[in-house]
Amino acid sequence: MSKKIETLLAQAGCGCDPRTGALVTPIYQTATFEHPELGRSTGFDYSRTSNPTRLALEETLAAAEGGARGLAFASGLAAIDCALRLFQPGDRLVVTEDLYGGTFRLFEKVFRPVGIEAVYVDTSRLELVAAALAQERVRAVLLETPSNPLLKIADIRAIAALAKVRGQLTVVDNTFLTFLLQRPLELGADLVVYSASKYLGGHNDVVAGVLIARTPELGERLAFFQNAVGGVLGPQDAWLLLRGLKTLPLRLRQQEANAQRIAEFLAQHPRVTQVWYPGLTAHPGRDVLARESIGCGAMIAFAIESAARVPDILKSVRVFRFAESLGGVESLITYPIAQTHADIPVEIRDRLGIHDRLLRLSVGIENAGDLLADLEAVL
Ligand SMILES: *Cc1c(COP(=O)(O)O)cnc(C)c1O
Repeated sequence: MSKKIETLLAQAGCGCDPRTGALVTPIYQTATFEHPELGRSTGFDYSRTSNPTRLALEETLAAAEGGARGLAFASGLAAIDCALRLFQPGDRLVVTEDLYGGTFRLFEKVFRPVGIEAVYVDTSRLELVAAALAQERVRAVLLETPSNPLLKIADIRAIAALAKVRGQLTVVDNTFLTFLLQRPLELGADLVVYSASKYLGGHNDVVAGVLIARTPELGERLAFFQNAVGGVLGPQDAWLLLRGLKTLPLRLRQQEANAQRIAEFLAQHPRVTQVWYPGLTAHPGRDVLARESIGCGAMIAFAIESAARVPDILKSVRVFRFAESLGGVESLITYPIAQTHADIPVEIRDRLGIHDRLLRLSVGIENAGDLLADLEAVL
């Protein structure tokens, strides 16, 4: 019987310890493993290479995403760094232009100096992506969709088809929607990356990253780099993530329902000049999202009339918490130009519309009425 995803996640890591029958995967807090004799291994030798708690997590994630291999890292950026080891100096990647600031920094400050170059494109415009993929030495496309913070939607299926014809890899950062709502591998992508610090963990208590490869061959190449470079997730954090995953469907459902109400409230508020949320009928790319996902997630961006009000709003919120990050059960309010996108040069931010009147919400699982009352009060 093939289990549905809620069942798979609720029972993540169950039954992995036949010796004791522990229902939940234990935290195997060990660096090394004894060998029964020369030439024989339990399958575990040293925890950088593989650890039973991490393996239970990696297998759950591969199954949930529908990939051949899952790999867990110490952070989302460590996972993206591992994926970028697939490329050589001289290679280029087409990358979503309004990208998570840390990924932008990784490309510009770490990989560009060694000759691996990002070509930034508005990936919600297929004709621009097609032109960029046709440039010389482009080996891959990395999509963040919906993008951060303006929730632009890329057509994963169409872009993956274009890339495939040229033998280019399609990589999707699926942090915002997760495999519950958007399934890039089924749309033709080769590799999915996550900051698991966000929805997958879901409790703002762990920093982690994930790669999920569609094929065993790609999974094997990435596992080589995971072990060779060593930015692995420790067993305690792997355990927290396994625990978080069990309630992902419940959390995300509540977060989406809350986000829809909040987006509608903001859209009619006189102090709010614009709202970006894919659940609003006017949101650009909503038709693509409707074809390629089954939900809108719980991230909202909105612009207020005057930047002078921002400090007051951030100081006065009582239910929303002023902090960066997203995806957890606690609702957060973020000021992108000062936090998540501070590393993106101001000229680029201005062109992308990431300006001083823009705020971002990560909607949690609290009572929607409390969240609405908080926004009403501060606006
Ligand atoms: C947070 C984030 C990252 C980076 O992940 P860390 O776990 O913070 O290293 C990458 N991509 C997206 C979309 C993110 O939101």
